[in-house]
Amino acid sequence: MAGGEKVDYVFKVVLIGDSAVGKSQILARFARNEFSIDSKATIGVEFQTRTLLIDHKYRAVTSAYYRGALGALLVYDITKRQSFDHIPRWLEELRGHADKNIVIMLVGNKSDLEDERAVSTEDAKEFAEKENLFFLETSALQATNVENAFQTVLSEIFKIHS
Ligand code: GDP
Repeated sequence: MAGGEKVDYVFKVVLIGDSAVGKSQILARFARNEFSIDSKATIGVEFQTRTLLIDHKYRAVTSAYYRGALGALLVYDITKRQSFDHIPRWLEELRGHADKNIVIMLVGNKSDLEDERAVSTEDAKEFAEKENLFFLETSALQATNVENAFQTVLSEIFKIHS
């Protein structure tokens, strides 16, 4: 947080998805950990990231991880089909452990690698609509839509919880 500034709310947002989809880079792009909504309120964001753990013995850790999270970026790599195929599993875990009102954004990262695309925008959009998720394709590398993804999730959380 910037020194001395008043923060009205702190929201916890988790970034989840397979290893190497770009979660750390997305976070690095969203350098500020606070932002304002209509200059009415300053929102601090506490972030955590998590990589897929398939083994069920990690379930106890899982519950602690999701506790209090009001938003989630569910990230896959548009060039790695498997990272998209694992999304339903992530969603199930989220819905099993997180706040009932958690705001979820499906994020197809690495949109700069169009030549290597393995997941169509249409497939992802269709899945997001079916599951009631927000959806954006981002490039952490080119800073495309990263700000937009966070703004959308945080604004929606604010709407629900203020
Ligand atoms: P994490 O394991 O999900 O946290 O993934 P990282 O953030 O460590 O990124 C994994 C790799 O993908 C690194 O080599 C990044 O530089 C690269 N990467 C991340 N985001 C992008 C992106 O938007 N475009 C491209 N081309 N590479 C990216």
